[in-house]
Amino acid sequence: TRPLLAIENLAVHFGTGAGSVRAVDGVSLTLDRGEILAVVGESGSGKSVLSRSILRLVREPPGRLVGGHIRFEGRDIAAMSPSELRALRGDQISMIFQEPMASLNPVFTIGFQIAEALRIHRGLSRRAARDEAIKLLEQVGMADAARRYDAYPNQISGGMCQRAMIAQALACRPRLLIADEPTTALDVTIQAQILALLRRLRDETHMAIILVTHNLGVVAEMADRVAVMYAGRLAEVADAQTFFAGPLHPYSRGLMASVPRIGDRVETLSAIPGGIPRGGASAVGCTFRDRCPQAMEICGQTPPEFVQGSSRVACWLHAGLSAPVAAPELGAA
Ligand code: SF4
Ligand code: MG
Repeated sequence: TRPLLAIENLAVHFGTGAGSVRAVDGVSLTLDRGEILAVVGESGSGKSVLSRSILRLVREPPGRLVGGHIRFEGRDIAAMSPSELRALRGDQISMIFQEPMASLNPVFTIGFQIAEALRIHRGLSRRAARDEAIKLLEQVGMADAARRYDAYPNQISGGMCQRAMIAQALACRPRLLIADEPTTALDVTIQAQILALLRRLRDETHMAIILVTHNLGVVAEMADRVAVMYAGRLAEVADAQTFFAGPLHPYSRGLMASVPRIGDRVETLSAIPGGIPRGGASAVGCTFRDRCPQAMEICGQTPPEFVQGSSRVACWLHAGLSAPVAAPELGAA
């Protein structure tokens, strides 16, 4: 059967001409109904840009979708008009961000905003929408929900706003939830509570989730499948069990070696020495070669192709018969 979402050869660039950055460069991914896919990588890996480009929300700096397709239930989001996009957004696809003010409106109470979503998307009456909104606020761990219903975003803490935003995103029972570091700003207890809520909603409503995170502890807890991004490209895609049993890409192995636990708030992944090349993906060779302990001569010359096996991996070490695989030579590139 057709996947819920199929991203095909997606390319998103910032800027134009020689100074342009390939933030997302030739990414292909699918997502099934009810599946939780974690997109993992350091800051600057392109994971947020990729997830935002699904709803064409790459704003700052403005990203341009320069190639590829994003098919949601067969319809190409990349080709949709603004009104078609608006209809899709908040009804079938919801997004939650690290910054709640990206989706909360400061001039309405949080309760009103959630109740409106319930009335529009689920056709609830005013009273039923209010009751349901309070229930949603309780589910996301908002203490004293009935009273906080009437609070404006600037009257409650950032953590409370975060929970209100999550309640609002879930109100329409989306078929796809895109969650970009949804719990990073919250304390450990609330974080665990919200992750459990997302899992339960997945089980009950068959909602699919794209979870963007740098936290492998969260990934282990949540994901069915893992996609590792580096410098705008996919490094590895594998089901979570296979991935945690033994990641194949040297970058994935580096991430694993720096595993943060649930509740860590820092971008611990930068424990791998070096940083992501600033121009995004470069055309020459493997983008990870400067940081890779196993780089070989070919890695500096030709980008590795994405090899399809039980996992998909873009690395010359796993190129099989299609390329010469030498023993790892430290620092050879
Ligand atoms: Fe390392 Fe080469 Fe694999 Fe890139 S292709 S990750 S440089 S071994
Ligand atoms: Mg980000």
